[in-house]
Amino acid sequence: MAQMWIDNEWRDAADGRVFEVRNPATEAVLDTAPRAAVADVNRAVAAAKRAFPEWRRTPGLEKAEKLHHAARRMREDSEGLAILLTKEGGKPLPENRDEIEWIAACFDYYAEIGRDVVGRVISPVARNQFNFVIKEPYGVAGLIVPWNYPLLLLSWKLAGALAAGNTVVAKPSEWTPLSTLRLMRCFEDFPAGVVNVVTGYGPDCGMPLVAHRDVEIVAFTGSQATGRKIAVACAEQLKKCHLELGGNDPFIVDDGVDLEVAAKGAAWASFLNMGQVCTSAERFFIVGKGYDEFVDRFVAYTRTLRIGDPLGPDVDLGPMINAAQREKVERKIAEAVSAGASIVVGGKRPERFAKGYFYEPTALVNVTPEMELMREETFGPVAPIVRCKDIDEAIALADASEFGLGANIYTNSLEHAMKAAETIHAGTFWINDPLTDNDAGPFGGMRRSGVGRELGSEGIEDFRDSKHVHMDYVIGAKSYWYPYRYDRPKE
Ligand code: NAD
Repeated sequence: MAQMWIDNEWRDAADGRVFEVRNPATEAVLDTAPRAAVADVNRAVAAAKRAFPEWRRTPGLEKAEKLHHAARRMREDSEGLAILLTKEGGKPLPENRDEIEWIAACFDYYAEIGRDVVGRVISPVARNQFNFVIKEPYGVAGLIVPWNYPLLLLSWKLAGALAAGNTVVAKPSEWTPLSTLRLMRCFEDFPAGVVNVVTGYGPDCGMPLVAHRDVEIVAFTGSQATGRKIAVACAEQLKKCHLELGGNDPFIVDDGVDLEVAAKGAAWASFLNMGQVCTSAERFFIVGKGYDEFVDRFVAYTRTLRIGDPLGPDVDLGPMINAAQREKVERKIAEAVSAGASIVVGGKRPERFAKGYFYEPTALVNVTPEMELMREETFGPVAPIVRCKDIDEAIALADASEFGLGANIYTNSLEHAMKAAETIHAGTFWINDPLTDNDAGPFGGMRRSGVGRELGSEGIEDFRDSKHVHMDYVIGAKSYWYPYRYDRPKE
């Protein structure tokens, strides 16, 4: 039975309750995790609050050493973490090995960013003044994350929050708590209470964390629906709230590009982690005469993808996370087909698996903008492909969305690339290289895809508040104090 990490101790839930964690490839129970409720959240927040005064004053270099040490431990435990991630999340092992390397790199990055500038000196308004801005941590940060990249999405928040001097209570998804708890071994050398993890469900563990009066900032990654509830709860307390929500990313293939490369890139952008990536490409716009060839190549390549046990070997696609996600995808495809769309590849459960939430990677044509598949986030292995007469139509359709997380284009034209990058609302815009992250660049959503940014210098700034310090280093009475003078000429 896994335990929570609170105040540098491994703990069960106060009331002893647990929940089961299952392997989505086999549906077998992997382990149980504590089902935390208000008492556990209170305990964790109290520990983080006690730890805050000392951690915020810890010098940057010392914090950096601790963050680098955690990164080293992540690399040492890389294989164990990657296997556990695979078992509870269903991504193929190579993707989870990458996830561990990325989280270690993220901690290394913020270790250094955190010991760089912590404010600025500003120009005074009068003689003998000295003015500066200090960037301060908020206090206890509540971090809530989903199941699709459990450690990466946590690390993008945790590394920035800690480097900024906050202490943390994190809540992983109820679908993938085990790898997060194992990750806590990497923080055993941190002072007690700086990093805490509570495991449980949204309403009885996540919401008490959001609503806790001693939690000064909430950073959330997950669905729009949950994000809205969290934003409302934060607004009740006028609490700072950072939201990384869903997307419905467009992918443009311009006329004249190498369609073999574009089709492979498109399939990867659509089917990576069974399309359960917030920046999965979910709408494909093919410009000009290459449309038919693109569809043929996309279908042929998709047929070569190997579905199976994500621990491998020789597997490209594992299962989806759970029955509900798979059923949601099936429903959306069925609705699109009944409204006139045609499936050109996939569109059903593979027959050879008696257990597991497997689904064939799917592409559809004859889709229209009104279909839910095109309007809402699908979060599954589904590629709707649209024919466009020219680049302007493709850009206009790509931007016709309430979301704005990521966007992609394959093009040989610098003019088309820049036109698309300038026009389309997206926190990240990829040209000829889909879905690549960079710790040094900000990540987040425009429009309804989120509020705030992770990664880059923005990712630490979002965990810092600004204090302006004003000083007059020559003490003296001011001419504009009382009593006021009224000797100005009357108008
Ligand atoms: P979800 O919103 O159902 O759950 C996310 C987290 O919120 C979980 O830990 C869950 O327990 C918790 N939660 C649920 N209800 C809550 C409540 N009332 N109060 C507090 N916490 C609550 O999302 P999910 O299904 O786990 O993840 C998929 C979604 O996440 C997709 O919409 C995807 O686009 C989004 N996502 C966004 C990004 C990004 O960076 N923008 C990254 C990955 C995933």
